[in-house]
Amino acid sequence: MSAPKTLFEKLWERHLVRPQTESTPAVLYIDLQLVHEVTSAQAFTELRNRGLKVRAPQRTIATMDHSTPTTPGGFKAMPVLDQSAQSRKAQLDQLAKNCEEFGIPLLALGDKRQGIVHVIGPELGLTQPGMTVVCGDSHTSTHGAFGALAFGIGTSQVAHVLASQCLLQTRPKTLEVRVDGTLRAGVSAKDVILAVCTRLGVGGATGHVIEYTGSVIRALSMEERMTVCNMSIEAGARAGMIAPDETTFEYLKGRPHAPKGAEWDAAVADWQTLRTDEGATYDQTIVIDGSALEPWITYGTNPGMGMSINQPVPDPDSLGDRSERDSAVKALKYMGLTAGKKLAGTPVDVVFFGSCTNARISDLRDAAQVLRGRHVAPNVRVLVVPGSQQVKRQAEAEGLDVIFKEAGAEWREAGCSMCIAMNGDQLRPGQLAVSTSNRNFEGRQGSGGRTLLASPLTAAAAAVTGVITDPRTLLEVAV
Ligand code: SF4
Repeated sequence: MSAPKTLFEKLWERHLVRPQTESTPAVLYIDLQLVHEVTSAQAFTELRNRGLKVRAPQRTIATMDHSTPTTPGGFKAMPVLDQSAQSRKAQLDQLAKNCEEFGIPLLALGDKRQGIVHVIGPELGLTQPGMTVVCGDSHTSTHGAFGALAFGIGTSQVAHVLASQCLLQTRPKTLEVRVDGTLRAGVSAKDVILAVCTRLGVGGATGHVIEYTGSVIRALSMEERMTVCNMSIEAGARAGMIAPDETTFEYLKGRPHAPKGAEWDAAVADWQTLRTDEGATYDQTIVIDGSALEPWITYGTNPGMGMSINQPVPDPDSLGDRSERDSAVKALKYMGLTAGKKLAGTPVDVVFFGSCTNARISDLRDAAQVLRGRHVAPNVRVLVVPGSQQVKRQAEAEGLDVIFKEAGAEWREAGCSMCIAMNGDQLRPGQLAVSTSNRNFEGRQGSGGRTLLASPLTAAAAAVTGVITDPRTLLEVAV
């Protein structure tokens, strides 16, 4: 009988073209590459310069997301006057040209399947258990929610995969993050992953692939699992994954690219073997009590600087080593926050609902649950940016757009938007935002902008009160 294996080990071994040696990394076969306009341009130029073709166009799909305007009507409704808007349009035009020349399917602006790269893969059924998935984007870890080995790669690696469908990789270690117990009402998957990032710190999972396990994880929906895996990279992990189960199969069944008929039955039988065997060991394990978690929010300039919403901002002197203390002092100065003071009650300028972390239909339903019948606070700008055109249509079919608009929020087209502020949607210097996205680095949402990461429920509570608020006080559940 073979030795028990972790989920990661099973996936790694299935995709090994050539094992790692003392002097060379392993060669891995890649099942699916997702492409967007920002990190692919140079890769296509490289192929062109070297006279190379795309090895497997059918295992590659492109979408437009990072630079796309989210103003209703897109570019058609936008005066393309300034230079930055022109260069964004040129980037999108270049992607269209590259996809046509190299035979890659493209979900361009106007396509009813267009959206953020990590939203469209799962919703089209392209992302499946057991796959290796790559993209020139850090948050490719999202796809690990399906029991895939999925990670971000650099521009030169995008070219390698386009040309060979293979990738050189050094074998990472494994880290089990077990979240036991049951989440309380008003506590969501985003709170779980923010708490995990706080526990691990920005570099705590470096060199590891995380497998999330435990009763809290098993009880999450697929969209919630994607939120968790999405932010694995923020703790430094190479990837994050969750073993597929009935929740996974139910989500995938009937999606356009999912297997059909007898192929579906065979696929499910195989996918059921993709779980960590009894007795298999991880290089490290951490355990979190999910029953004790509260809504979580960041106070600093990386996602590891987080805390429960009702705690005071930590005193840098109470933190780990000197470099951690120094970066906390610097972060609090940038954020304009005071150690020892509670964040609750702090006025906010902008609330952003969006990104590949929290712009799926269940996230918009959470936001609408709080905004329904209420109005956004004066002087707070609220943007709601669906993760894809499909999410947008679903939200409109459910009347969520009406709830947002009646509350005074902006209802936008799909795209990355203020997650990365490349498309013109951005904070002004000094503005404080509560954001459902995944990064709060200095200037991430606009030069001089300050970002607090939180769940859609917490963001919605800030939108209607105008200050940082525990969402449970508006949901009338126990605090
Ligand atoms: S939403 Fe943000 S993190 Fe996600 S793919 Fe777009 S820019 Fe990257």
